Amino acid sequence: CGIVGAISTRNIVPVLVQGLQRLEYRGYDSCGVAVYAQDDKPGLRRARSTSRVAELAEQVQAGDVHGTLGIAHTRWATHGAPAVHNAHPHFSHGPGADAASRPGRIALVHNGIIENHDELRATLKARGYQFDSQTDTEVIAHLVDSLYDGDLFEAVKAACAQLHGAYAIAVFCKDEPHRMIGARAGSPLILGVGADGQEHFLASDAMALAGVTDQIVYLEEGDMVDVQLGKYWLIDKQHAAVSPAQRPVKTVH
Ligand code: GLU
Repeated sequence: CGIVGAISTRNIVPVLVQGLQRLEYRGYDSCGVAVYAQDDKPGLRRARSTSRVAELAEQVQAGDVHGTLGIAHTRWATHGAPAVHNAHPHFSHGPGADAASRPGRIALVHNGIIENHDELRATLKARGYQFDSQTDTEVIAHLVDSLYDGDLFEAVKAACAQLHGAYAIAVFCKDEPHRMIGARAGSPLILGVGADGQEHFLASDAMALAGVTDQIVYLEEGDMVDVQLGKYWLIDKQHAAVSPAQRPVKTVH
């Protein structure tokens, strides 16, 4: 339903939570936020709720969810009941029976529907991936993990080539805590450029970033974006590099 992501040098959780609040009017059955925390216990951390975003904000405070890289989501369930374990962000801990005891590696949020989720789930289960939810979205998280070989952009590109359906996704990986990847096919996604030219944002709607930035790049159908601090990189549906002139930064009012 709604996506917000951010990479910055400051704690971006308030921006993520405020972004979800701005998307609340669209309706949702659950919400969540995940960050890469860089404190004495570095790693993925998340909070999820089937209540209001205001309740999520309380959990975030209580659960030490803070960091300079993060993604957040409001969900309208299509596959899997509205429940905390089905709320996004979804993590992949890699394959194996001991996966749940390992720190999460991939964090992902998704709008839309993956049509071939059953086949992909079966293939991933055969490769040892364990599923914590009934969503089509968790399949994408494990698929990206299974294709990850040190370059998240390449892993997401390869994963998208196997997805049938409609999606906008935002993903990050604990092994590359300086970048997040966005992709859109059949569901909107925009890139926000921060006032300092350093912070960058992803969102399903520019409205989620109101008060944060009015500098917006509208992704086109099939685009993928590699979002980092101070820079970003886009490719189109043919995987050709997209120049800044092809996707200009627009000022929204
Ligand atoms: N199909 C996904 C799910 O049910 C995403 C739904 C949405 O767009 O919020 O979890």
